[in-house]
Amino acid sequence: MSSRGELRDLYQEVILDHGKRPRNFGPLASANRRAEGYNPLCGDRETVSLRLEGDVVKDVAFEGAGCAISTASASMMTESVRGKSRADAEALFAKFHDLITGESKAPAGGPALGKLEVFSGVREYPVRIKCATLPWHTLKAALEGEGQTVSTEDGAEASPREEPTAC
Ligand code: ZN
Repeated sequence: MSSRGELRDLYQEVILDHGKRPRNFGPLASANRRAEGYNPLCGDRETVSLRLEGDVVKDVAFEGAGCAISTASASMMTESVRGKSRADAEALFAKFHDLITGESKAPAGGPALGKLEVFSGVREYPVRIKCATLPWHTLKAALEGEGQTVSTEDGAEASPREEPTAC
């Protein structure tokens, strides 16, 4: 059995790996939905593109610049929601949100978090919670319509001149 400390190291390794070498990073030529997300507290900026066919996320990718947590979260999100129905993708977001906030608002049942559980450690760093949820908020906006822009801070304008802070 792994000790809790070793498990935490493993989790950090997975997050660092996805942060350094994000999967599904780049434009998505076949996309029919797109949204931009911005976290002014950290400077994370991500665009999520997806190909929605009927009710199914056929393909998904992301672009942008952010800290290791937001990049890793976006990378693992794309792997987790590809091929899922819109309802399952939103259910997964609810569970992910519960995981990192320590709340229990998500309805029982639905898809399992699987490897997304590596983000449970984010709970101990409240400032990082918005970094981890940004790609999911952006995905939700993309599912709701084309050309949405979301910010983790209500009313904050996305300014392209703002320099990202070090995370
Ligand atoms: Zn961040």
